[in-house]
Amino acid sequence: MAFRFANVSGRATLLDPDDNCYDLARLTDHRLSSDPMVALADPAALHEAARGLAGAVADGTLADARADRRVGPPVPRPVNCFAVGLNYLAHAAESNVDLPASPLVFTKFPTCLVGPDHDIELNSTSADWEVELVVVIGSGGRDIAADDAWDHVAGLTIGQDISDRALQFAASPPHFDLGKSRDTYGPIGPVLVSVDAFDDPDDIRLWCEVDGDRRQDARTSQLIFNVPYLVSYLSGILSLQPGDIIFTGTPSGVGMATGTFLKPGDVVTSGIEGIGTMVNACR
Ligand code: ZN
Repeated sequence: MAFRFANVSGRATLLDPDDNCYDLARLTDHRLSSDPMVALADPAALHEAARGLAGAVADGTLADARADRRVGPPVPRPVNCFAVGLNYLAHAAESNVDLPASPLVFTKFPTCLVGPDHDIELNSTSADWEVELVVVIGSGGRDIAADDAWDHVAGLTIGQDISDRALQFAASPPHFDLGKSRDTYGPIGPVLVSVDAFDDPDDIRLWCEVDGDRRQDARTSQLIFNVPYLVSYLSGILSLQPGDIIFTGTPSGVGMATGTFLKPGDVVTSGIEGIGTMVNACR
């Protein structure tokens, strides 16, 4: 059974289709852990626990938890946080670069991850938005075949790969990691949704608005290197760990293309169909 998962007040939480919250440890009489990282490492148990939501008493609503700023990143402490650059044709074109022959993979250091309603603390005048589909690994491993890749994914969530463009290109040759990893530059959430909840996990709509103005709107079917390819590619190089996350790349419409960057007071809204929206204010 499909599940929706969130980190509420630091505790693993399941959600019903109406986004009522159920503390996972309480729901399962403490058979399953309240630690989101431990819980996510056993997706089969989450699928099973989701069956128990019918008739259970909720612990409140996701909306109330978000209003109280109690919803953290669904994956708070991944071992690895990968990101992929230039993975949509139109974005590569607006960036005036050649298409990568193999995935352009960099790190967002996990300390940049924050929840879906957290403020983005601007440190420069060149911070840019990048809405992305974020893949969360369930059962990891080496040498995962593309055909098997989706079976190794615990679920999908929304990510903002906030990017300090000046820092990203400060060194020569450019090295993306630090410019993508400032504190608060990695909002993810609000929920992680299991793959079986999507009609076609390779064709999901994502979009981004800045102060209500739609800047990005695309579908993951436009990815150059799709999710199965990325999981297979990365696992051919290193062992993927439960809870590892992959920012899969951003479509066209980023600020860099027009020289427009985030400023204090801006509100970045990021959405993916079937998951929800994040709302991150800049300050
Ligand atoms: Zn990105």
